[in-house]
Amino acid sequence: MDASQAKQKESVPAKEEWKMRPPYRVHEPNENFPVRYEASCHCGKVQYTLSREEPLDSKLCHCTTCQTQHAAPFQWAAIFHKDDINFKHGHHDLEWYDPTEKSIEHKLPCKVRCSYCHSPIMDEGRNMILLFPSLVHLKTEEDRHNFKPRCHMFYGQRVMDIPDGLPKWDGLNQESDLIEDSPPEMVREYERKREKERDEKFQKGENK
Ligand SMILES: [Zn+2]
Ligand SMILES: [Zn+2]
Repeated sequence: MDASQAKQKESVPAKEEWKMRPPYRVHEPNENFPVRYEASCHCGKVQYTLSREEPLDSKLCHCTTCQTQHAAPFQWAAIFHKDDINFKHGHHDLEWYDPTEKSIEHKLPCKVRCSYCHSPIMDEGRNMILLFPSLVHLKTEEDRHNFKPRCHMFYGQRVMDIPDGLPKWDGLNQESDLIEDSPPEMVREYERKREKERDEKFQKGENK
């Protein structure tokens, strides 16, 4: 059976059409998808490659959902576009969990795991994916530098202190307070930005 026959064989119902779209769409060998990184889950059934050199962001999340879902004090995630990833077997060998409704339907945003060894693979958001870099085969100093965490979020829910001098957001990054040992110049800059936003709202009469 060649690739086109295999493709025809897998006709998915309309409501499962998302399985054929990014991030699950399998790239054809003739597509220009440069392989910058390779990654695999613990058992090796789930394998993927990444084309992007540097994640859009890399952060540590201390929220209690991440603590429970990863059975760890915090989560390390790197953000990519859905087009940056190529799962070798597409949607196969994956399972989904929606922590909001506690359902195993594919409903965004959701958690994605290996259906065999249950290693967490990524969080799939509406527009982006948050990959867990522990699965990526980082081979060089440069690779590790590219994935290095840039901030902490939901640090207010932490189980331990990480005095590393990185920015620490009380809740969501860019939308909460910078706390603990966040770089002071960044705290001042962020306060100025918020002050400006408050002034603009006040002038528009939206300060209620
Ligand atoms: Zn696995
Ligand atoms: Zn979290």
